[in-house]
Amino acid sequence: MFSHEEIAVLVIVALLGHAMALFWYLADRSNARLCRTKIYDVPLKKGQIRRELLNSVLTPIHALLLGALVWLGYFGNTSWPSFVLTLAATFVWAEIWHYFSHRAFHLPSLLWIHREHHRSQINSPVTAISFSFGEKLVFDIGILLPFGILDHFVSVNFFGIASWFIGYLIINSFSHANFEFRPANYNSHVGKVLATTVYHSLHHSRFTGNYGLATRVLDRLFATEWEDYERLYDRISIERRPLAQLRERVETGAAP
Ligand SMILES: [Zn+2]
Ligand SMILES: [Zn+2]
Repeated sequence: MFSHEEIAVLVIVALLGHAMALFWYLADRSNARLCRTKIYDVPLKKGQIRRELLNSVLTPIHALLLGALVWLGYFGNTSWPSFVLTLAATFVWAEIWHYFSHRAFHLPSLLWIHREHHRSQINSPVTAISFSFGEKLVFDIGILLPFGILDHFVSVNFFGIASWFIGYLIINSFSHANFEFRPANYNSHVGKVLATTVYHSLHHSRFTGNYGLATRVLDRLFATEWEDYERLYDRISIERRPLAQLRERVETGAAP
């Protein structure tokens, strides 16, 4: 059975992606300050938001799978230390799982799983919740299954995993956008490690490179980061000159 707190958190995980999409849609429409630094001066494809909204009905899968494991008796630890450790472990494992599964999705034999998400070449407020059923399933099972196994040996905290999903749904909502609101000097400090909206926009517009989720760590380690990323970030954030074409480069260099 579920506690009231668990039900409340699962409902948040189920609906937060849509709430964030609505927030950014309204912010963008009202030309809010946060949305003014445009990344691509390229229009969305006709019908893109409608297609993404149809895909988004699958977003509550996160909450359904997490809830199913709680219902089966998993993730019962409620202590604060286990919360902190579970949240930290989920963050690290999600980075690793997402990076390698994402690179695998780009293999010709597996691209069918990931193709729907890439139909959005310029990101909208709804792109962050537009995935195929197969992709959501692989993403969620890959994150949750290892923790289900771990729970047999070390008690895992439901709220730690759920908090990671909440953070993911919030950050991913503005990591998929056609604007950048981070400060101009971002890449001279935390941006050396953390990814940005420009970072993931390049993955959508150019189709390869910049595979990471929240960080640049694995892309740098495996040489899959676009070389012109930081120069391009400066052009967009400091010079306020958006890119005019999908494959436009700031400077020539080897593709990842
Ligand atoms: Zn991809
Ligand atoms: Zn994406």
